[in-house]
Amino acid sequence: MLATAEVLGAFKQGVCVGVYGEDHELEAFLLVVDDRVRDAFSPDEIALLEALATQMGVVIENSRQHLRLQERDRLAALGQMAAGLAHEVKNPLGAIKGAAQLLGDSGGRLDASEREFVGIILEEVERLDRVVGSVLDYARPSKGQLGAVSASAVVRRTLTVLASERDKDFELDSSDLPDDVPLVRADAEQLRQVLINLIRNAEQAMGGTGKVRVSVRAREKVGAASPNDPPEWVEINVRDQGPGIAPHVLDKLFVPFFTTKPTGTGLGLAVSQRVVEEMGGRIEVTSHTGAGSTFTVVLPTASEPLPQPRSATERGTANAELRPRPAE
Ligand code: ADP
Repeated sequence: MLATAEVLGAFKQGVCVGVYGEDHELEAFLLVVDDRVRDAFSPDEIALLEALATQMGVVIENSRQHLRLQERDRLAALGQMAAGLAHEVKNPLGAIKGAAQLLGDSGGRLDASEREFVGIILEEVERLDRVVGSVLDYARPSKGQLGAVSASAVVRRTLTVLASERDKDFELDSSDLPDDVPLVRADAEQLRQVLINLIRNAEQAMGGTGKVRVSVRAREKVGAASPNDPPEWVEINVRDQGPGIAPHVLDKLFVPFFTTKPTGTGLGLAVSQRVVEEMGGRIEVTSHTGAGSTFTVVLPTASEPLPQPRSATERGTANAELRPRPAE
């Protein structure tokens, strides 16, 4: 700004106006120089240029918004197409699986390499089936039954199920699951599925070794009139000791089909986010490279009003919900 002013100083008759976008961020400068006459710009003209700069800020912001909406519609259409495709693929996949199982069951008539081939077919069909199932989960409207649920109880149950299939190098810390937090409005089964997704991701991020801490707490009401004001939100934190998430990955976490894993579907977080949003909540993420990540499921307490149903496009399939969270 100073350098610009210095340059303009030499001309004596220059006007420099800042162009501001949303959140008053400086987007550009509008520079108008007229060195033909002295005092080329009257105060009225300067005011006009300022108004022009404001308009330019609005236009810049609108065109950005337009691009965001276009991208969102594109992804929503893509999602619908993928769902249609998944639906078509599901039945033939079931037939292939059945046939391969029959072949495998004929046991003695197959030699070793034929049995190996049948095994490969079954394994790959299972994998495809999982991908197709995730696509359909993502595309289908939720069938969840919302009720008043104890977040700590759901976490405990999930951890018990997961603990039975865990390696001994992997620890699930459940020491912070208080029972005195308010009930949340959720579908227990779907919430369990979301937690399994988050914990599996955490485990994979740590290469199967380390500690994942799952905790529950009430989130204090912002601007609460008194400390006795009931909280509106309860949060479930899943914290890992993995490598953290690079900023370019953080931006795309919830985009359907985005994955950094060789055999990932990229649907775990997209599905989880949709399910949680349908309960009226959201998923927040904090991550520092080298210092692990925390995924937080924020749910409304059971006493909060029900969320308005949202259309598929409105759901913003492409948008990563990376909302700021209060310092811990
Ligand atoms: P998938 O697990 O099939 O890749 P997800 O939607 O669950 O699909 O995750 C998308 C991507 O988000 C992952 O591929 C990974 O790069 C990143 N991610 C998710 N959870 C974590 C985590 N706890 N730590 C680091 N990266 C993560």
